[in-house]
Amino acid sequence: MVHAYGPHIFHTNDDEVWEYVNQFMSFKPYVNRVKATTKGKVFSLPINLLTINQFFGSTMSPNEAREFIEERADTSIKEPQNFEEQALKFIGPELYEAFFLGYTRKQWGKEPTEIPASILKRLPVRFNYDDNYFAHRHQGMPEHGYTSMVENILNHPNIEVKLNTKLDPSDVEDYDHVFWSGPLDAYFKHKFGRLQYRTLDFERIEKSGDAQGCAVMNYTDEEVPWTRITEHKHFSPWEAHDKTVLFREYSRSCEPDDIPYYPIHRTDGDTLLEQYQEAAAAEEGVTFIGRLGTYRYMDMDVTIRAALDTLAEWRGAHAS
Ligand SMILES: Cc1cc2nc3c(=O)[nH]c(=O)nc-3n(C[C@H](O)[C@H](O)[C@H](O)COP(=O)(O)OP(=O)(O)OC[C@H]3O[C@@H](n4cnc5c(N)ncnc54)[C@H](O)[C@@H]3O)c2cc1C
Repeated sequence: MVHAYGPHIFHTNDDEVWEYVNQFMSFKPYVNRVKATTKGKVFSLPINLLTINQFFGSTMSPNEAREFIEERADTSIKEPQNFEEQALKFIGPELYEAFFLGYTRKQWGKEPTEIPASILKRLPVRFNYDDNYFAHRHQGMPEHGYTSMVENILNHPNIEVKLNTKLDPSDVEDYDHVFWSGPLDAYFKHKFGRLQYRTLDFERIEKSGDAQGCAVMNYTDEEVPWTRITEHKHFSPWEAHDKTVLFREYSRSCEPDDIPYYPIHRTDGDTLLEQYQEAAAAEEGVTFIGRLGTYRYMDMDVTIRAALDTLAEWRGAHAS
C-alpha cells in the first residue's frame, strides 16, 4: 500500500472518532517509531532517553538526564517569543541544532525565529525510552487503505459523488447549504491576496527487499535537501512484498498550481487571514470546514471531530 499524498497514520484520543472510522474499516495496530539521521548517525525520535544517551555518549537515568538537560536549557528565556527561543528554553543548543534548526529551515523555508513558539507547545523530550511518536490511545492503519475506507464512507444512498467537478463559489446559491472544504481564499477568488502555504514534492524510489528498515527516517541536517524518506511497506507489515517503494520528501513554497499542504503561520500575526475569516463569518449559506476551509493544520481525527461537531451544530440551528 502506497500513500499517494504523503504517509498518513491514524492516531487519536477521541473514542467517538475512533468508533466512527472503525465502522467503515478495520484497523490494524500500527505504532509509529521515527528515526532521524544527523551528522552521519542515526537517532531515535521523538527525543527520548535513548536519543540523549546516544547523542551525548552517556548512560544517564531519567532523573540524571532531566537535570542534565535543565542545565543546558536557557533559563533566561521566560516568555519565548518564537520557535527558537521555545526550543532553547526547553532543550538547550546542542539538541536544538541537531534535530530542529536545519529541519525547521527546510520544512518552513524560514528562520525558526520567524515561526511562532506555539508550534512547539510542550517539552519535546521524553525522559524514558518511549519512542512511540504519537502518544495517543488509538493508533493504526486501515487494513485495506484510506481509499477503500473513504469509499465505504461515501457508500450511502444520500451521498452523490461527482469527481473532477469543481464547485465554483458563484454556484453556491444553487444549494440549500454548502460546506466548503476547499481553500478559504479560493472561495473569495483571492480578493485580499493569497494565503501562504508550503507544498511538498515526492521523489519515488523503487528498490527490492527492505531498503530503510523503518517507515520514517527524518533528515535533520540542512545540507541534505529532503526532510525525510518514507518506506511505505513498513506501514502495512501484514502485506508481504519482494519489492519496496520509498519517497524522498522535499518542502518548498506553494505556487498557485501546486497542492497546498501546510499553512504558514507567522510570529507577527496574520492580517490577511483575519480579513478572510471576517468575510467567511459574514457569508450566509456556507460553512467553512477542514484544513483548507479553516486554514489550519489538522490531523485526520481532528478533521473528523470538527466535521461531526459542525454538523451537530448546524442541525441544531436548522431544526424545524
Ligand atoms: C504530508 C502530510 C502528512 C500527513 N500525515 C498525517 C498523519 O499521519 N495523520 C493524520 O491524522 N493526519 C495527517 N495529515 C493531515 C491530513 O492530511 C488532514 O487531516 C486531512 O487531509 C484533512 O482533510 P480535509 O477534508 O480537511 O482536507 P482534504 O483531504 O485536503 O480535502 C479537501 C477536498 O476538497 C476538495 N476541493 C477543494 N476545492 C474544491 C472545489 N472548489 N470544488 C470541489 N472540491 C474541492 C479537494 O480536492 C479535496 O479533495 C497529513 C498531512 C500532510 C500534508
